[in-house]
Amino acid sequence: MELLHSGKVRDVYADGDDLILVASDRISIYDVVLPTPIPDKGKLLTALSLWWFGQLADLVPNHVISATDVPAEFAGRAIRCRRLDMVPVECVARGYLTGGGLKEYQATGKVSGVELPRGLVEASILPEPIFTPSTKAPVGEHDEPITFAEVVDKVGGEIAERLRQITIDVYRRGAELAADRGILVADTKIELGWAADGTLTIGDELLTSDSSRFWPAESYQPGRAQFSYDKQYVRDWATGSGWDKQGPAPEVPAEVVEATRARYVDVYEKLTGDRWA
Ligand code: ATP
Ligand code: MG
Repeated sequence: MELLHSGKVRDVYADGDDLILVASDRISIYDVVLPTPIPDKGKLLTALSLWWFGQLADLVPNHVISATDVPAEFAGRAIRCRRLDMVPVECVARGYLTGGGLKEYQATGKVSGVELPRGLVEASILPEPIFTPSTKAPVGEHDEPITFAEVVDKVGGEIAERLRQITIDVYRRGAELAADRGILVADTKIELGWAADGTLTIGDELLTSDSSRFWPAESYQPGRAQFSYDKQYVRDWATGSGWDKQGPAPEVPAEVVEATRARYVDVYEKLTGDRWA
């Protein structure tokens, strides 16, 4: 198979007309890959993504062909999928205000051009979920927030509307399902692309801890940082270690690796109801 792309976290191979999307145990923060892998992360996120693709299959077509028809060496952490012509926009929906969205709001009162009420704080729930797209930055650069008008410039008004609608629909359905299981979805990113027959299709990964912020509902309290099932724990450790977010990242201590893995396992089990064997 031809290696088409080696991202920070995943490797993409071509197999005939199909792609094989292989998730590694690598973890990246602030767009830098840490030197220490998180055991099972690739399998956990692949399994979670597949579960979500199944849950949302009636809502929007997805790229999955098979989770098992993949080379044996990648078993459990690879998906055979339809090769899509990817839309050059990262489609983000936010239901709560945090991270880059919060920073933008504090500076401008808006996120990606969407005007928000005054007085919102860290982790505030938004009046309704909003579409806050960003660029798909080339390797080595950071994704930048863009406005809906900029999406219209890139793909045209009709497609932009569809991207927004699908992204919000996916967020709503995901958040509703997760809430039943005690998890809040603060925000999520999806990637869409065109299948050979012209169908707008979800690609990449879906509602994983790498593409979404998950918080436990029981301890939710606006006005402070939430306990988080994603990489926030590693980010906090890394910035606390004095790392400048630029150069080579420090080795992650075993207890931080284990605590991070435990978060991925925990959210997988809570969402799917399965035990991680
Ligand atoms: P990073 O996530 O590290 O910022 P990246 O997004 O380029 O970089 P990965 O997420 O590791 O790298 O790799 C997945 C790549 O494959 C992405 O570029 C994504 O857009 C692309 N991709 C995912 N699904 C499909 C698909 N069905 N067809 C074509 N490309 C896809
Ligand atoms: Mg990616």
